[in-house]
Parts: sequence; C-alpha cells; structure tokens
Amino acid sequence: MTTEEINRRFCELAGICWHDYNGWINHIETLKCKYCAEKYKPNANPNFCAHPDLVLEVMRKREDWRLFLSYCTGYRASNREEIAAHWAELFLNKTGLLCRIAIKWMEENQCWHQKTSG
Ligand SMILES: [Zn+2]
Repeated sequence: MTTEEINRRFCELAGICWHDYNGWINHIETLKCKYCAEKYKPNANPNFCAHPDLVLEVMRKREDWRLFLSYCTGYRASNREEIAAHWAELFLNKTGLLCRIAIKWMEENQCWHQKTSG
C-alpha cells in the first residue's frame, strides 16, 4: 500500500472524511469536498503515516483506546522498559508503522463485532 492508501484506509476505518475536492482550480474559493462539503483548504487530508501523534489523537477518542495501547505493545508485555522502548519506536517511526497497526487493530476489532452480533 502507498502512503496515501494507508492514510485513506485509516480515515475510512476511523470515520474521518478523506476530502476530495472536485472542481475548477480557478474557482478555488468555491471548492468543496464532494463527501462532506467542507470548504477547500490546502493539505486538508492529514498524513497519519508521517505523524504518529495524530494517529494516537484519533485512537484516543475511542472508548476502547486502552485496548489499542495494549495491542501495540503486545498484550503480554509486562516489562516497563520494554513497553516504553516499544512506544518510543512507534512514535519515532514516520513511515506509517503506528498507522498500519491501528488499521490492523480496527479491522480485527470490526470482524470481532461482526462475529458476535451475527
Ligand atoms: Zn470531506
């Protein structure tokens, strides 16, 4: 997956609009997202891959975000240094590591909800 595909997938799973502006670049002041109608602004779609802090901000809004934290470090990790080192690695990685983990976790989580509700 490309960086944009990863960012798009993360937005899709997290319920964030991946803005798509359709129109004439000459009329930039009237451009609106074709999905949510938000007015055009440059760089409206965040790069979650390059900014792992943004991933955490989004995940933190979920009720089950603590489960996500545990998932990131491994449910069985108990050594504090090990957990801290792991988080440092996740935060310093700007190639989408935390974003991809969040995608995997949300995909797995949704499957689990589908299984239990069906
Ligand atoms: Zn939008």
